[in-house]
Amino acid sequence: MQRVCVYCGSSEGNEGIFRDAAAELGERLAASGIGIVYGGASIGLMGALADAALARGGEVIGVIPETLMHAEVGHLGLSERHVVTSMHERKALMASLADGFIAMPGGLGTLEELFEMLTWGQLGFHDKPIVALNTAGYYDSLLDFLDQAVGSGFVRPAYRALLQAADTPGAAVGLLHPDAAAPAS
Ligand code: AMP
Repeated sequence: MQRVCVYCGSSEGNEGIFRDAAAELGERLAASGIGIVYGGASIGLMGALADAALARGGEVIGVIPETLMHAEVGHLGLSERHVVTSMHERKALMASLADGFIAMPGGLGTLEELFEMLTWGQLGFHDKPIVALNTAGYYDSLLDFLDQAVGSGFVRPAYRALLQAADTPGAAVGLLHPDAAAPAS
């Protein structure tokens, strides 16, 4: 696992635990030598993730549409930054640069990105692992809903299994890269 694409909110959420988890994830990935691909912003959980990884000497690649450079305050201190022309280009490039995906808590944008990777996996367009980082149970009801969708016959169990879940940043990294699951130092 060389690089992980991390989807996360452009907001911080209303509890410090979300920001702490984003920073811990950034630190852990950097400490494990795993590069980060993300949305390129300096705000919200995205900024916390990137700043923590950079502070630890990690590789952080941002992919941001030109139109959002202002609204999402494009991060100027990244290892690499790609300014693209559309959301579709952003998602495609983020996905192609990474070997796996972690979805942190986030809003509609994060959910859309997560589900696109699940549906691309379902269609066989990629076979990269996908993990929901379920900080403070943020994704509990979504995971329950997906089980319900299986029960209702709309999602095949094999496709439901494409989404793994982890309660902590360490467990999320461990699912993608078992050698990196040790406690952060
Ligand atoms: P949010 O989770 O809504 O805070 O958004 C997280 C990130 O997803 C932000 O960088 C948004 O610009 C991005 N985003 C929102 N909608 C889309 C979309 N349709 N395609 C790609 N990225 C999106």
